Amino acid sequence: MTLPAGSTIGIIGGGQLGRMLGMAAAKLGYRTVVLEPQADCPAAATCGAQVIAPYDDADALRDLATRADVVTYEFENVPVEAARALEKSVPIYPPPAALDVAQDRLAEKDFLNRAGLSTASYRAVDGDADLAAALEAFGGDGVLKTRRLGYDGKGQRVFRGAGSHDVEGVFAAMGGVPLILEGLVQFEREISVIAARGQDGALVAYDPAENVHREGILRTSTVPATISAETAAAARESAFAILSALDYVGVIGVEFFVPGDGSLLVNEIAPRVHNSGHWTEAACHVSQFEQHIRAVAGLPLGDPSRHSDCVMENLIGDEVLAAPTLAAERNLVLHLYGKAESRPGRKMGHFTRITPRNR
Ligand code: AMP
Repeated sequence: MTLPAGSTIGIIGGGQLGRMLGMAAAKLGYRTVVLEPQADCPAAATCGAQVIAPYDDADALRDLATRADVVTYEFENVPVEAARALEKSVPIYPPPAALDVAQDRLAEKDFLNRAGLSTASYRAVDGDADLAAALEAFGGDGVLKTRRLGYDGKGQRVFRGAGSHDVEGVFAAMGGVPLILEGLVQFEREISVIAARGQDGALVAYDPAENVHREGILRTSTVPATISAETAAAARESAFAILSALDYVGVIGVEFFVPGDGSLLVNEIAPRVHNSGHWTEAACHVSQFEQHIRAVAGLPLGDPSRHSDCVMENLIGDEVLAAPTLAAERNLVLHLYGKAESRPGRKMGHFTRITPRNR
């Protein structure tokens, strides 16, 4: 069903992604109400109303369900129980099943492999002995991650080199929580695909972006990526397979490792708009944010094609001080998140340099 203009979209999470969703919703004639515990959150400036409460507050969720005609979210750690409770009184997109998969790296990899996609090798680790056995199985190399609540490289530890590692106490040092050991992938590059599925099952995908991370945080996304047409098509098809398997509605971000031997490994999926898709607001007629709003509102999906080549760069911490200089540059689209305080590692904004489309 298409939401009539003037309807209200509820957004769980009030960070910069919620802020940009609020802008896109307004552009299409919708109102927004955001659920976020922090009062002066980035999304407060662009969403019409805010419910100030924790994401799992039952009264607040009821309030959101009453005020919204449809609900979506901007981060994947929305409590699944809260999403399922909400679903009883208001449509919620993407479906809570996507949260289930994306919140646990083990469930995510099981799901991806079941869907016929390749990932790094992996083993569940629930103690030091598991870790020793898994490292041995992987020849000494691996990336140890918390199964839940890890993002931007947080909660990770890399092991390199053959021979046995001293793993005593590692499980406790990682917080004593369920872990996963992934094989250390020797990749040539990292790419991501932003794709969307509409309520009618229509599928669209943006061109893959080539991403560079530092200390686990995305620094740049370059489009087009330096990959073959076959790899680009395989990445797009993988994203479509994931969307269909989840009976998904909305935008998804799928990150891949490109080992360079013709294979493609899915690293992780984000059931939401994604940082590596920010370039779409500068280089496409329909951004990922508008695409997501179209999907959750039941509108036809928009054209994902790209009119320009581009490089998106995040402004992290004090890098935001360069904003006035960047603002003077031609063919540069600047976006600031309105965060009062800059802290190391905090995403403060991003900019996209666009050049005429070359290929
Ligand atoms: P993640 O939080 O899982 O997306 O990891 C953050 C970054 O760490 C990735 O974008 C990669 O650059 C690197 N990384 C994560 N997992 C692996 C892996 N299994 N092998 C090699 N590098 C990895």
